[in-house]
Amino acid sequence: MELREIGEFGLIDRIKKNIFPLLPGVIRGMGDDAAISSLTSGTELVSTTDLLVEGVHFNLSFTSAHLLGRKSLAVNLSDIAAMGANPRFALLSLAVPMKTTVEFIDDFIRGFLEISGAYDVSLIGGDTSSSPERLFISVTLLGEGKKENLVCRCGAQPGDDLYVTGTLGDSLLGMQVAQKRGGKPTSADEAYLMERHLNPIPRLPEGKTLAGRGLARAMIDVSDGLYSDLRHICEESRVGATVWVERIPLSVPFQSLATVPKEQNWQLAVKGGEDYELLFAVAPEKAWELKELARHWKCGLTCIGKVEPFPQGVTIRNEQGPVDDAFLKGYDHFA
Ligand code: ADP
Ligand code: MG
Repeated sequence: MELREIGEFGLIDRIKKNIFPLLPGVIRGMGDDAAISSLTSGTELVSTTDLLVEGVHFNLSFTSAHLLGRKSLAVNLSDIAAMGANPRFALLSLAVPMKTTVEFIDDFIRGFLEISGAYDVSLIGGDTSSSPERLFISVTLLGEGKKENLVCRCGAQPGDDLYVTGTLGDSLLGMQVAQKRGGKPTSADEAYLMERHLNPIPRLPEGKTLAGRGLARAMIDVSDGLYSDLRHICEESRVGATVWVERIPLSVPFQSLATVPKEQNWQLAVKGGEDYELLFAVAPEKAWELKELARHWKCGLTCIGKVEPFPQGVTIRNEQGPVDDAFLKGYDHFA
């Protein structure tokens, strides 16, 4: 069905009729000039927003509307996870090209609401516009957390251990596979990597636990690539860091499908992007407590390095010493 048949308000109604029941905290949801909601008393508001642009952040030749809906909320949940906060309310703004079908929007919303339902997030509003050519998706996510529990990028201290959840580089490789295969994987390994790129799992329970137990002193989600995001922690904390190449966690499908020579495949993982894993610094005396906790984490946890005094900067090293970091730049929209 064509969008012109239902119009802007028809589209908004299609979203609205899928939202039920209203979760606690929503006083007035979609349908008013502004939404009214309440936070748990004693918590602070934690806000984040992400803009996804067709042709920049996603490619409709290999991304389905359903997975796009899931991912557009999941990437925001990942930011909330990295603060150790609890996600509550979402706002969704869409700029939709006229050629888009109603079925596409229905699938997108179905994916979005699957994720919001899974994490107890309420879609409370948004905005809808036409777009001359490309699809734009903007999601704003509001969460909450106790001030003393929230984790910023700025608390790492020299001597801390650096940890990362899950494995790195899968998403970058998954995107390359998706491009090459036009979205149709030809093996289980290819399907695994594509799934990691198209359907990321936000590390929310892990982030909340790390924050609630006071384990992570500084935390970030790995969205631009390990090197780039570790530099953000270092800049904000005014520290340096060392990462050991041999310790970087790589999945089995990644190791079997990376096309660079085996000794170099960690480079893809360091550069990466869109891993949506958590990178965080922990005081060494908490290592045992963390290890005990992480035994229950399906995603796994790896100590990949150490926080160093500021003047060192970020050093990636192998057994022979620091490696040449010419290749180590994360994604920069304007570079
Ligand atoms: P306004 O004219 O005040 O901007 P709209 O007609 O755009 O209001 O929106 C009507 C209601 O639908 C509002 O509650 C708004 O937040 C909500 N809404 C509009 N677009 C979306 C969307 N894409 N997703 C969720 N809610 C939306
Ligand atoms: Mg509007």
